[in-house]
Parts: sequence; C-alpha cells; structure tokens
Amino acid sequence: MGFLQGIAASNGIAIAKAYKLVEPDFSFEKRTIDAPTDEIARFQSALQTSKAELEKIRDHAGTALGADKAAIFDAHLLVLSDPELISPIEDKIKTENVNAEHALKETADMFIGMFESMDNEYMKERAADIRDVTKRVLANLLGIQIPNPSMIAEEVVIVAEDLTPSDTAQLNRQFVKGFTTNIGGRTSHSAIMARSMEIPAVVGTKAATEEINNGDIVVVDGLKGEVHFNPTPEVLEAFKKTQEDFEKQKAEWAKLVNEKSVTADGHHVELAANIGTPKDLKGVVENGGEGVGLYRTEFLYMDRDQLPTEEEQYTAYKAVLEGMEGKPVVVRTLDIGGDKELPYLNLPKEMNPFLGFRAIRLCLEEVDIFRTQLRALLRASVHGNLKVMFPMIATLNEFREAKAMLEEEKAKLIEEGIEVAEHIELGIMVEIPSTAVLADQFAKEVDFFSIGTNDLIQYTMAADRMNQQVSYLYQPYNPSILRLVKMVIDAAHKEGKWAGMCGEMAGDETAIPILLGLGLDEFSMSASSILKARSLIRNLNKADMEKLASSVLNMSTTEEVVEAVNQAISL
Ligand code: PEP
Ligand code: MG
Repeated sequence: MGFLQGIAASNGIAIAKAYKLVEPDFSFEKRTIDAPTDEIARFQSALQTSKAELEKIRDHAGTALGADKAAIFDAHLLVLSDPELISPIEDKIKTENVNAEHALKETADMFIGMFESMDNEYMKERAADIRDVTKRVLANLLGIQIPNPSMIAEEVVIVAEDLTPSDTAQLNRQFVKGFTTNIGGRTSHSAIMARSMEIPAVVGTKAATEEINNGDIVVVDGLKGEVHFNPTPEVLEAFKKTQEDFEKQKAEWAKLVNEKSVTADGHHVELAANIGTPKDLKGVVENGGEGVGLYRTEFLYMDRDQLPTEEEQYTAYKAVLEGMEGKPVVVRTLDIGGDKELPYLNLPKEMNPFLGFRAIRLCLEEVDIFRTQLRALLRASVHGNLKVMFPMIATLNEFREAKAMLEEEKAKLIEEGIEVAEHIELGIMVEIPSTAVLADQFAKEVDFFSIGTNDLIQYTMAADRMNQQVSYLYQPYNPSILRLVKMVIDAAHKEGKWAGMCGEMAGDETAIPILLGLGLDEFSMSASSILKARSLIRNLNKADMEKLASSVLNMSTTEEVVEAVNQAISL
C-alpha cells in the first residue's frame, strides 16, 4: 500500500489498474555474437512481431480515429518491408558479428541523419517514420512494451510524468477513469482538460511514475489531491463509499440544471462554461451552462500537421454557435505558446515560453494565420451570439491593431457579398498585470473584459503555473490579486461594460463569494463545476458578500482571506 500527495486537478474518485505512460528505457550494449544466422532470425522475429502490432494499431485507429490517422501506420508498415532499410541491417549483423540491436540502431540513425539533413519536408517526415518504427523493433528485441494509450481496452488510471494537452485529448473516456502525473498544477492545460472531460485527476505528485507499477490498483482522489496505490481492502471500501457519496451529491446538483444562477437576495449572474472543442458542448448543456465564456480555439490547431483551413474553422465555430442556440459564446482567438505548442509552426525554442512569443503577439506578426481565423469567425457570426476575445493583451495598441484587422476582414467579406453579424462584441482577456492596472483606459475601447486568472496570478506573483515547486505562490485569494480583480470590474462598470472571469478561479468555491461581492457579472468555468457553483450562489446574499469583499481587500495574507470567507459562508 502506498500514498502520494499531489494537487487536486479534477473532481471525483477513480479506481482502476495503473497504466504507465512513460518512455521505456531503450539502452543496450553492443555485443559480439557467434551465430549471425541465429541473430538474423531473432531480428526477423522482432520485425514480424512489430508488423503484427502495427497492423493491429492501424485497424484500431481506422475505426476509432478515421482513415487519415490509420494511413500513418500504413506508411510505417511500408518502412518495415523496405529492403533498403532491412538488408543493410542483416548485412551488418553478418559481416560485423554484432547484435541486432546495434545493427538496427546504427543503420536507422544513418538513414535518419541523411533524410533529416535534406531540405525537403517529405524526406523529413520519412526520417520521423523511420525513428518511430525502428523504436518499435528495438523494443521487441529488448522485450519491452511501448505504451499506446489509444489501444487501451480495459478500465485504467493513466500514470505519467506529464500529459500534454494533445495526449489528454486522445484519452478514451470509456476506459480512462482517471490520471495522475508527476508534474503540473491546477491550471496546467492537461488539468483543465481533465475537468472538461470530467475525469478525476491529481497532478504534481512528483513520484507517481517511480512509485506505481503497471497493473497496481490505483485510487485517484481528485477531491483531496491524493493518490493511493495497492490499498488495503478497508481503504478501498472507504473510497468506494466516497465515490458513491460524490455521485449522490452530483445527482443533487443536477436538479439545478434549469434553474437560474441567482443569489438569495435576487442578484443574477451568468454561469458560463470554458470549452476546448465543439465536442465539449454536450457537457455544457448537461450542466446547465448559460453560455460559453471561453472557447479555447487553439485545440483546433493542435494534434495535426498543418494549420486548419478557414472552412474547417468556420464549421467548428458555427457548430458551437448553433449548439448554444443564441446564448452568448465568447470565442478567444488563437492562444498558442506557453504549454500549448504547435510543432508544425517550427517556432524557435524559448527560455521563458510563458513570457514569450505567444497568443496575440504571434497573431499580430503571423497575420495570415490571424486573418484566416478572423474571417472564419466573422462568417460564423450569423449563426448565433458571437463575441470575440483577444488573449494576452498587454497594451492598448495591441488591442487596436487586432481590432483594425478584424474590421478590415469584415469590410472585405461584406464587399464579397458574404453576410456578417451587424454587431459583434469585442473584448480582451485581462491576464497581464499591466492591463489590469490600466483597465480604466481599456474599458473606454473594449466591449467587455474576461479576467484570465490562470495567467494573471502567475504573472503577478512571478510563479510559473506549471511548476509545483513554486505552487505555494499560486495564490488566487492573495489580496494583491483581489485588488487587481476589483480594479478590472470597477473599470468595466464605470464605462457601462461587463466583466467576466474565465480563469479557474471563477469556479473556485472560496473565490466565488468574494467575486460575487466585487460585482463580477459572468463566471466562466469547467462545465463540471457549474452546478456546484450555482448551488453555492443560490445560498449566498449579494449584500453580505459585498461586505465580505470590502473587508478581504484590506487584509494582508491569503490565510486571513480564506478564514474570513469560511466564516462568512458558514454563518
Ligand atoms: C487564463 O489565463 O486564465 C486563461 C483562461 O487562459 P489559459 O488558461 O488558456 O491560459
Ligand atoms: Mg491565459
């Protein structure tokens, strides 16, 4: 029995066998061999096993992911049948009397180096294919298994060092009951995605991949941020009970799905959802979302080899707008960078990617990418209640430039005879302290603000949101953050504009009473948090929360604020 403390990233309890998603150890020694014929036979057998595995993966990908993804594996199978690669390996074993692992690695590296040095995209891709398939053959020679999450066919808990947002997107909800990682924080994008997929998750455990073995029974307690492995029967029973209680609690919240988000003294706020893809709409509707407060469009650009076309984007935006049936949908323009990479853009590696060439900075430079997205959005605007929002705005000039491009594209479309909604609200994410401080000036020009606390906190406290070593500084309730939030809300209201929040803080039970008191108009959160938040809001009084908010703004530490909130809401 073992235990790890991590960070609660997504609600709920998952109990299943561990499936480790870690890169295996491919190290081996060069050996002289006495019987080359036997060694070639060993190599041939590894080759045949690899082919059989690839055929199975291809067939599965064909049904689960579509023909284009399956075609990748056809290309890989061709590599394994190519005599130009296979013969030199066998020759090397025969003439140099070396083990198959060494012959394979040397030959593959030679081809990879050759193709990679060519100034030709097609050849570069062949190098990647060779790297991929020879790794599989090497694994079979060494008797190790390469994990492949898309082939999982039984209930598991994924155990990994980290999961990229695209790894997370590929997890099959039917079988993946939960996940736990060594690194990451509550606002890393894998955690955010776990919440939108409603998979319990605990991140930042530091040692999950070392302590847990494949097949161990793992309990992911996404409520407390704990991971238990190989628990005693008593502990396991206790968790099964907690799991049942949580399901019962969820059923209670579900009764509020068609109710209003209104306080006991009659103040109405909007509870909206954050989504990453049109597929997330189902969860928004099931959880009674009153709109989409943040559509992170970058997921449309990930998990593929090239930029999405205007048409593909138009189809996705239209689907979301229509799916929300006239309710507000705030679409954020591309926010790539930080922990969300697009390998095909070949951007140089940066020392501080969260402070680097990302989001609007990239869009204002790579204008073709940006204009394509703006056109797709404008065309989709006639299908619902679209609001467009720019991410990572640090200066008014950035906003003005982005707005001017949108206006230009709108004029072009109208000239082409394409219909565009007459008025589209245009807002910004407030996630950089400079913008929060200057919110009074921004408020004169934007239609709305949405406070992105995930980044605003990391930039204000200078604490990387991905780094659990400094996670103690990640303090949403620090009075410094609360004062910035107040400045933004007040600035919006002074100009008759609305202020929302789409950072994770908006769905946080301790923050909600304060935000209500500060006058936040819209709270946008993971769909799975909406009903719980609604239940809380319906039990609070706006007038009392105003008093609470003004007192916590004058406190000096996070701890005092938390204490004050706990007292106020237990009254
Ligand atoms: C934020 O920074 O609060 C936000 C909502 O954006 P993201 O988490 O995608 O950076
Ligand atoms: Mg952000």
